[in-house]
Amino acid sequence: MKINKAWHEAHKMSKDTTLEQRLDWHLNHAANCTCREMPESIKRELEARGLTVPTPRSLR
Ligand SMILES: [Zn+2]
Repeated sequence: MKINKAWHEAHKMSKDTTLEQRLDWHLNHAANCTCREMPESIKRELEARGLTVPTPRSLR
């Protein structure tokens, strides 16, 4: 579990985000940071849309 602080600084999530914005944030987050798991509800939503969950290859 490694936090990408710079990414988080640049991608602050506000309190009233739409589902679309959350999905977008989590997709971006998963690709750039591993500080926490993507919530199941988000994963399911992405799957329902036929999107794949990216892996943070760049951090390894
Ligand atoms: Zn993170």
